[in-house]
Amino acid sequence: MTAYTVQMEQLPGLLAAWSTQCQVHVPVSLDNGFYDFGPWRPGTEIAFEYDVAYNPLKRFFMPPREDMVVFDLETYSAKPVFAAPNILLFGVHPYDVKAVTQLDQLMESGSVDQNYFSRRDATVIFALTPMAVSETAFWASVGADKVDQGYDLYWTKIGPGTFHVEIGSGKGEELLLAAGPLSPATAGSREAARKAQVRARNLGLRRKLNYDWHETPHVMGRSWNASLWHRKAEKCLGCGSCNTVCPTCYCFDIREEVDEKLKTGHRFREWDGCMLNGFALVAGNHNFRPQASERYRHRYMRKGKYIFDKIGELGCVGCGRCVRACTSKIADPCEIFNTLWEESRHEI
Ligand code: SF4
Ligand code: SF4
Repeated sequence: MTAYTVQMEQLPGLLAAWSTQCQVHVPVSLDNGFYDFGPWRPGTEIAFEYDVAYNPLKRFFMPPREDMVVFDLETYSAKPVFAAPNILLFGVHPYDVKAVTQLDQLMESGSVDQNYFSRRDATVIFALTPMAVSETAFWASVGADKVDQGYDLYWTKIGPGTFHVEIGSGKGEELLLAAGPLSPATAGSREAARKAQVRARNLGLRRKLNYDWHETPHVMGRSWNASLWHRKAEKCLGCGSCNTVCPTCYCFDIREEVDEKLKTGHRFREWDGCMLNGFALVAGNHNFRPQASERYRHRYMRKGKYIFDKIGELGCVGCGRCVRACTSKIADPCEIFNTLWEESRHEI
């Protein structure tokens, strides 16, 4: 694979060049001790050693609320809305790249989600090998410590001021060379990158599944009647925070609003969540999952089985965001999968 070596002092020139073509977002430290992606401007300090971005990156492709159609009730006309700013995400950890590639597959199946892809196609992703791990994460044990697709460049810090950068796409290479030629990677820099990636994986294994993640769909298949669903769900507030922060949750609702003079209106979508009581409510006041334990089980069945049955990957990339977001301390997929595995392993 083509790769280059980039020195830290070359980065400001590159970022300046990229920012003439795209909105550049980088990991930054927030005042509250957390990290998130924020817009890059000259002088912005990039948090290369961030553990996890507080908010999921799905918001760049599928904002929490977006217009899909605007309409005029006087002329009976309607216009679709496709907003697609050029965006460059610099420093995305592999588990978040994996989450995006999952969304790509899911948004493409059936009826292609044009709003999603208009934003996705206008986005460039520069991955970064993690140098720190959130204490709630377990991504290395679900196969999300390294990705081989979904990125345009893959950056690995191999020294205090040196990066090894693998090319993932023609667009990525064009942007990397935007400020002038760079040194091609050497055998030494490739080996240093490999070691840094192994180090990241080992760091990521501090929290882990106690079994091979490929077994998870079988574990879930044996666990439909597990008592865990009731034990945990009795503490659930039904707040939906675990859905909102999850980079692989993508459910939404579509609604319409008309202005008070009944002249214009818009159809918009906004994030929904399977942990909310109204999620499965349909006409006739019928709710498919009226009990918290049913909603709770459904969420983990999606993560551990249903998505796997569709695309051959877990619907959880182990980022640990939901673990941190849940005030009831019951939304921990690592703990849940391990418990269900332990409780059902003798049934094989
Ligand atoms: S279920 Fe939790 S740990 Fe898994 S991807 Fe979603 S937020 Fe991250
Ligand atoms: S974040 Fe916790 S309390 Fe809120 S819906 Fe999810 S599991 Fe329930």
